[in-house]
Amino acid sequence: MTRKPKLAVWKFASCDGCQLSLLDCEDELLALAGQVEIAYFLEASRATVKGPYDLSLVEGSVTTPHDAERIRQVRRVSRHLVTIGACATAGGVQALKNFGDVNEFVSIVYASPDFISTLETSTPISAHVPVDFELHGCPIDKRQLLEVITAFLHGRRPNISSTSVCMECKRRGTVCVMVAHGTPCLGPVTHAGCGALCPSYDRGCYGCFGPMETPNTVSLTRELKVLGMSEPAVERVFRTFNVTAFDAARKP
Ligand code: SF4
Ligand code: SF4
Repeated sequence: MTRKPKLAVWKFASCDGCQLSLLDCEDELLALAGQVEIAYFLEASRATVKGPYDLSLVEGSVTTPHDAERIRQVRRVSRHLVTIGACATAGGVQALKNFGDVNEFVSIVYASPDFISTLETSTPISAHVPVDFELHGCPIDKRQLLEVITAFLHGRRPNISSTSVCMECKRRGTVCVMVAHGTPCLGPVTHAGCGALCPSYDRGCYGCFGPMETPNTVSLTRELKVLGMSEPAVERVFRTFNVTAFDAARKP
């Protein structure tokens, strides 16, 4: 009998939302469990099987010296390593600390700061080890996750669109909130994947899936200002879940 591929799911600094997207697969998860051995997934089971693992899904960013050591160990025992979500691919909303004084935050937030051991930055997994594929989103989309897992099980590249949220709006026939109502929207520069969820509820896109390939942030910034956003407001709208990725994309 051929051995089932071993799947591992790892958590670093994160809210667990992306692991929940995997659990949220429900029916598909049963089919998946028939195809792979879910060998390490502490969110779902306390029982673990020793590595090496054929596919590791990594959620979360590196924020402590222990994280930095542990991700190297995860890489050593993983044939393929895929990062899932804004935390793992861009440092997450916790990367806002990269722009402030960490010691000041620690002294304000924690009653006993002496017990806190933290790095000054929150960084994506790719800043520490080689990554085979990055799946974007906050949280990730479960259909895209299933496509990525299936692709790696069959030894092919995942078929994930690299276009913008605007394309998803057009495909579902959603009226553009920016053109119709003057609502600021990050859709023109944001990676597709959510199915244009926010515009379908008459809200602008918040950029949860991070920058698309070659985003034209200069044009969008100009348009946001035409719609009445001040310079600080534009800065804030780009500085959320994918702050480091959008910062890099906006550099000249
Ligand atoms: S990317 Fe978003 S949903 Fe996923 S773990 Fe990070 S904060 Fe949670
Ligand atoms: S609502 Fe936003 S995402 Fe949709 S087409 Fe308009 S600008 Fe693009």
